[in-house]
Amino acid sequence: MTTNVLGYAASSATAPLKPFQFQRRDPRPDDVVIDILYCGICHSDLHIARNDWGRSVYPVVPGHEIIGRVSSVGKAVKRFKPGDHVGVGCMVDSCRQCASCSQQLEQYCQQGATMTYNSVDRHDQMPTFGGYSEKIIVSDQFVLKIPDGLDLKGAAPLLCAGITTYSPLRHWKIKKGSQVAVIGLGGLGHMALKLAKAMGAQVTLFSRSPGKEKDARRLGADHIIISTDQKQMTSVNGKFELIIDTVPYAHDLNAYVPSLAINGTIVIVGLLGNLEPTVSTPSLIFGRKAVAGSLIGGIAETQEMLDFCGKHGITSDVEMINIQDINHAYERMLKSDVKYRFVIDMKSLKG
Ligand code: NAP
Ligand code: ZN
Ligand code: ZN
Repeated sequence: MTTNVLGYAASSATAPLKPFQFQRRDPRPDDVVIDILYCGICHSDLHIARNDWGRSVYPVVPGHEIIGRVSSVGKAVKRFKPGDHVGVGCMVDSCRQCASCSQQLEQYCQQGATMTYNSVDRHDQMPTFGGYSEKIIVSDQFVLKIPDGLDLKGAAPLLCAGITTYSPLRHWKIKKGSQVAVIGLGGLGHMALKLAKAMGAQVTLFSRSPGKEKDARRLGADHIIISTDQKQMTSVNGKFELIIDTVPYAHDLNAYVPSLAINGTIVIVGLLGNLEPTVSTPSLIFGRKAVAGSLIGGIAETQEMLDFCGKHGITSDVEMINIQDINHAYERMLKSDVKYRFVIDMKSLKG
C-alpha cells in the first residue's frame, strides 16, 4: 500500500511545472512521515527541472530545502515524535557502510547517496520526489532537528544553501580574522556572507550586479568588488584564504585566482560542468594555490550547521511565494532577481 500525494512536477526539460499526483512508499519502521510546510527554491531545482546536467528522469518533483511537521513515526524511531518541526535537505539515504559514510560524509557515498529527488530509493527502487509536495517520508537518520526559535520559513534554505556554504567554511578552517570572499550574491552567496561573518571572518563579495552593495553590507560583507571592474579586481590581489564560488554557469576563474593569497583555495560549489576558458596553471603553481569543489555536507554537519544558526540567530532572507507562481519564480531566478531565496508556502498547494 502506498500514499497518494499531490505535488508539482516538470514532465520534460521544456514543460512548465504543473500539479502532479504520485505515490509515496508505505512507511518503514525507521521512517518519519512529514507534512511539508515550506520548501526553498534552489537553483539546482531549476537545473534539474530543465535537464541542464543531462541526467533528469521525468517527471521531476524538485525541492530539497524542506521544513515540515512530523505527522507520524515508525516504531523504530526514537529521535522524533508527531508535532516536531524537522528539516530534510538534499539527501534521503546512502549506503551507510562505505568509507565516506563511515566518516559521516554521506554526500560522498561511494555507492552514490540517494538524493531527495531525481534519484531511486535503494530499497524499493521507487523514484524519489522532492519537497514541492504535501508530504515526504524519510528514514530518521536523514531527518534534521530544527532548533527552537528559528523562523521556519527562513530556516528552509539552510537545508541546502546553508550547508553548502557552511561545509567549505569549516573544512578550510575559517575563523576570526580569516579573509574570505564569496562570488555571486544569490541564495548560496547570501548564506555564505552570513555564515562567514558569524565565524568572525573578514568577508568580501564579488558581484556582477552593482545594485547589490547595500544589501551585501547588511548581510555581512565588509567589502564589495564589482567583478567587471578591472581596477577593483586588482585591488584585492593576494588577499583571500578562501573564495567560495557560487556562480551557476561557466565563467572565467582566471579573473579570481590572482586574488587568492599564497596557499589560498577557490572552492567551486556553483558550476557543475566545464570551466571556460580553462584555468592557467602558472597562476596556481606560483603561489601553491588550489581549485577545489565541495558538495553540500554530511548529515551530522548539517545538524551542526542548524545548531550554529540557532545559536547565532541566522536564517535566510526569503521571499514567500505560492506554488502556482513557481514557473515565474524560476524566470526571476535566471535574471538574479531574488532577495535572496524564494520559499514556497505549501499551504498554497491546496488553495
Ligand atoms: P542563485 O540564487 O541563482 O544565485 C547565483 C548568483 O550567481 C546570482 O545571484 C549572481 O550573483 C551570480 N550569477 C548568476 N549567473 C551568473 C553568470 N552567468 N556569471 C556570473 N555570475 C552569475 O543560485 P543558487 O541557488 O545560489 O545556486 C548557485 C549554484 O550552486 C547553482 O548552480 C546550484 O545548482 C549550485 N548548488 C550547488 C550545491 C553543491 O552542493 N555544490 C548545492 C546547492 C546549489 P551576482 O548578481 O551577485 O553576480
Ligand atoms: Zn540545492
Ligand atoms: Zn556510502
